[in-house]
Amino acid sequence: MPADRAILFRLATSPRLERAARAAPMGERLAWRAASRYVAGTTATAAARVARKLGERGAGSSIDQYGELVQDTATAGRVAASYLGLADQVNALPADTWLSIDLSHLGLDIDPPGCADRLAAIAARLSAGRRIQVGAEDHSRADAVLACIETVARQGLASRLGATAQANFRRTPRDLERLVEAGVHVRLVKGAYVEPHDRALPFGEPTDIAYLRLAHRLAETQAQFALATHDGVLREAVLAALGPRPVEQLLGVRPAILDELVARGVPVRVYVPFGNDWFRYWMRRLAESRGA
Ligand SMILES: Cc1cc2nc3c(=O)[nH]c(=O)nc-3n(C[C@H](O)[C@H](O)[C@H](O)COP(=O)(O)OP(=O)(O)OC[C@H]3O[C@@H](n4cnc5c(N)ncnc54)[C@H](O)[C@@H]3O)c2cc1C
Repeated sequence: MPADRAILFRLATSPRLERAARAAPMGERLAWRAASRYVAGTTATAAARVARKLGERGAGSSIDQYGELVQDTATAGRVAASYLGLADQVNALPADTWLSIDLSHLGLDIDPPGCADRLAAIAARLSAGRRIQVGAEDHSRADAVLACIETVARQGLASRLGATAQANFRRTPRDLERLVEAGVHVRLVKGAYVEPHDRALPFGEPTDIAYLRLAHRLAETQAQFALATHDGVLREAVLAALGPRPVEQLLGVRPAILDELVARGVPVRVYVPFGNDWFRYWMRRLAESRGA
């Protein structure tokens, strides 16, 4: 299984595959038709429309503009400006609408202090009760992501920030203690990145057990956290043990369960991505839908 997952993950993150598929006759249109279930659209307006609809169903949202791995400060500045505009839009949407971002999109790789400044500016722009959730990227960026979150939280912005903890990474129990100490919201995921054995647990039972342990550890703390998983068995095991806890899902993945959770009084939030770089995101979701 790990080999299958590694192959699918490599395909899903391959720029060459993306170029070939999008260039094929009808390729772009066919791909979009399949991808659109997971993607709000290419514009912030489309994402806002989806967030409003989710709000009518009693669900919150977390809006993300696709992008990552920015390698120059001018682009990082433009991304930050775009997110400041998004924060203004989000402030006018239902109260449970948040933002999401990957820090490599804000220039983490090239300018960590600048990235922290940009994240702080966006967090400060959000009205009370809203947060910007920072995505978890590959293992090589974990230290920098954690340091950036801590830096911004120390500026009095912990209540506007969220972090993501990957259950499959061996380092996560230690990182979690730091996130709890920082006072930020934690989104607990299984982890999407395939990493070597010495850094990450295999997917399947070892990751699921780690997830359960981390959820219980979070519950022992004062941390606010959400169970970001579509794994019904895992989710119900935690809810049965801990009572209603917020659940987060990705747009288009097992959407039928959202209404049931809302009816049961479980707070629900949906990750709502938008933008032009939807292809590889879709490929990852496709791989996960096959159990990879
Ligand atoms: C809100 C949110 C934010 C996330 N942020 C991050 C992040 O920042 N960093 C990161 O590494 N990962 C992130 N992830 C992804 C996460 O790590 C997993 O890769 C992903 O959620 C799949 O794992 P799962 O917990 O749903 O369990 P799985 O065991 O993969 O899936 C559980 C069940 O859901 C079904 N399923 C899963 N995906 C699909 C799909 N696309 N279509 C249909 N059925 C599907 C499976 O077939 C299975 O039956 C996030 C996930 C969520 C929900």
